[in-house]
Formats: sequence, C-alpha cells, structure tokens
Amino acid sequence: MVTKRADIAVIGAGVVGCAVAKRLSETQPGKKIVVLEKLGGVGLETSSLNSGVLHSGIHQDPNFLKSKLAREGSKLAADHLKSRRLPVMHCGMLIAVSLESLRRGLYKEWLDLWRLVKRGKEQKINLKFLTSFGIKKIEPNIRALGGIFIPDVWVIDPTIFVNVLYQEARARGVDFFFESPVLSVAKNSDSYLLHTPDKEFSAKEVINSAGLYADEVAQMAGFGQYKIYPWRGEYYEVLGEKKNLVSRLVYPALPANYPGKGIHFSPRVDGRLFVGPNAKLVPRKNYYTEEKTPPEEFLKAVNRFCPQIKKEDLVWAYSGIRPKLTNSEESDFIIKLEYSYPHWINLIGIESPGLSSAIAIAKYVDKLL
Ligand SMILES: Cc1cc2nc3c(=O)[nH]c(=O)nc-3n(C[C@H](O)[C@H](O)[C@H](O)COP(=O)(O)OP(=O)(O)OC[C@H]3O[C@@H](n4cnc5c(N)ncnc54)[C@H](O)[C@@H]3O)c2cc1C
Repeated sequence: MVTKRADIAVIGAGVVGCAVAKRLSETQPGKKIVVLEKLGGVGLETSSLNSGVLHSGIHQDPNFLKSKLAREGSKLAADHLKSRRLPVMHCGMLIAVSLESLRRGLYKEWLDLWRLVKRGKEQKINLKFLTSFGIKKIEPNIRALGGIFIPDVWVIDPTIFVNVLYQEARARGVDFFFESPVLSVAKNSDSYLLHTPDKEFSAKEVINSAGLYADEVAQMAGFGQYKIYPWRGEYYEVLGEKKNLVSRLVYPALPANYPGKGIHFSPRVDGRLFVGPNAKLVPRKNYYTEEKTPPEEFLKAVNRFCPQIKKEDLVWAYSGIRPKLTNSEESDFIIKLEYSYPHWINLIGIESPGLSSAIAIAKYVDKLL
C-alpha cells in the first residue's frame, strides 16, 4: 500500500474542511496539507443540502461559541463572495408572529419572539420591531401581527461557496483526495496513520471535519465519547408564479429547544422559493428520501403567514441531515484539540449555523493549532 506523507490532514471536504484547509494553507505556508474526502467531490453532503442562510446568531444561546462564530463568519463569507463578484442576496430575516396566535392565546409566540429579541440584544445584533403594517410594507403578501426584522442576514448558494474555498485551497497547494474514505486510524508517537481503501496517509496534525460521521471518525482515533443524532430537514419548492410571493427570509418564532429554526420561507439567489426545513429524527445518517413528509405539514406552517400558497404549488425538493449532538436540548459546536502532540482536533456537532460559521471556524482551528 502507498504511504503519503503530510504535515496536516483534514478529513472531510465539506464547507468546514475546505475553509480549514484554505486557512491553514495561508497561515502555515510550506506545510504539506491534504484533504481526504469519502465522496467524489466537495460539499456533497450537508454543505449543499441546507437553506444557504448566513445567519446573525440570534437563534443561538449568546454564550455559545456557535453564536459568536456565526456572527463573525457570516460577514466574512458575504464579503468573501462579494469581493469575487459571486451571488450574495442581502435580503434580511423577518421573524414574525402569526395572526393565528391570537386565537391560540397570543402569549406563547410573543414569548418565543421576546426570547429571541433578548438573545439579539445581548449579541448587539441590529434589529427593528415591525407592526403588522410595517411587515406588509416590506413583504406585501405576509400576514402577521408583528415581528422583528434583522437586516444583516444574507442568502448565498452554498455549492458556489464550498467550491470557491476548494479552488482557493487548491491554488495554494492543498492536495484533495476524493473517493478516499478514512476507514481506520493508528496513532504513532509523532503522527497519525489514516487508512483509506488504497492508500495510507501519515500526518502530524489531523482535523476531523467529517460532518455527520465526525463521531465515527473520532472513535477511530480513540475518542469514543461523541454521538451524533441525525435530524432530517426536508424542503418543498414553491412552483410557478407563487415563487414571487415572498422575497425575504420569513421565519416563525419557536422555543429554544426546538431541533431547528422552524419551517420558513427560503428564497434563493437564483430566484427560486423553497419552504422548510422540518425537523425529524431519522434512523440513519443517509436517510434522505425515505418516508417523505407529505406537504400538509409545510402548507400549515406557511399558510399561517401566506394563505395564497396551495398544496398544488408545492413539490418535494430535497432534504439535509443535521449532525446534532443531543436529542432534545440546545448544544454548542465541539471544536476541541484532543491531543497536543501529535495534534488531533475534533469538530463535532457542526449543525446550523455551520455554513455561516465556516470561515470563522477555520480561524478558530488555526488558533488552536
Ligand atoms: C436542513 C439543514 C439546513 C441548514 N441550513 C443552514 C443555513 O441556512 N445556514 C447555516 O449556516 N447552516 C445551515 N445548516 C448547517 C450546515 O449545512 C452545516 O453546519 C455545514 O454544512 C457543515 O459542514 P461540514 O463541512 O462540517 O459537514 P459536511 O458538509 O457534512 O462535510 C463533511 C464531509 O466529510 C465527508 N466524510 C464523512 N466521513 C468521512 C470519512 N470517514 N472519510 C473521509 N471523508 C468523510 C463527507 O462525505 C462530507 O463531504 C443546515 C443544515 C441542514 C441539515
């Protein structure tokens, strides 16, 4: 078997692995960096199966690393793409309280919104309160009692973003090996040996950014304490003219322990409109298309704000799977230097807002090293 030597090996070429490889190629010039990816290209799992939102951090606990990295990373990602003249939609995020909440006793949705406002204020996120009339002014087809608007939220094409990071890392000399799943790991006194089906890689520093499978890769290196719960989020696309009904991100206000941010209106840079994602614990990490959720759940969620959308306007589009660290409560990203020599860094539970945070995560990993 061929043995390839490297200074740094990154496992997984999702948005995080590509961002980390690119960053290290800039700050550690001269070091040989390899990225080992199980699939045939970059960003083919969760990194391309999401909403493409560069989040403000308002949904996260302000004490979490997640909220800080999302705030920092979103701005960096938007600037990065803009400076390369790639599509970035500066549409902002509306978090609204539905008219229906009046019938259900109002109190609960306002409390959920108020909790988000509190989180936003603690993080100094710029937001505006909007009345029902104020909402109609910016989104004429959205009916709501009121809500908040966060201007500094962007939508990007996640596939373009991952590919830019990949191309830039490659241009700086990073070697990517596709169809190269890491199957086992052996630790020596000064390096790790990573076994793939046809090669082995020896590296003094390893970054495990294997997304949904990061717990299994960590276990190969002797860190068996992590478990990832796969929570699927499905999307429906709004077809025909109705895709023009909503042009901004419109979210409901949900409790902090909800396993997602709620089914929202998710406009895309190419002019399409999606609704989703829901949140469902699934039996496997690759359970993308089995037992599709019928449209009624999505219709109910979007009709609270936009009754014009009908069942026949919706078609099931795709799903992504969240690598969650818990089954119920909120949890933070785990970004941990497990061994100081040879270095092994685990990145586990990089669920939303992982896309937003990618460039900031890469800076954080660089500092850890
Ligand atoms: C429904 C949904 C919506 C989301 N919406 C947003 C959003 O709007 N904004 C946001 O900021 N975030 C969002 N996220 C989260 C975001 O998509 C993720 O946080 C981010 O993509 C994680 O990137 P990653 O590189 O860590 O993981 P991944 O993209 O999963 O990449 C990991 C890579 O590792 C590879 N791999 C796995 N095992 C091995 C192995 N043994 N050997 C080699 N390679 C391996 C995989 O093939 C994969 O390519 C959403 C997630 C979901 C599921």
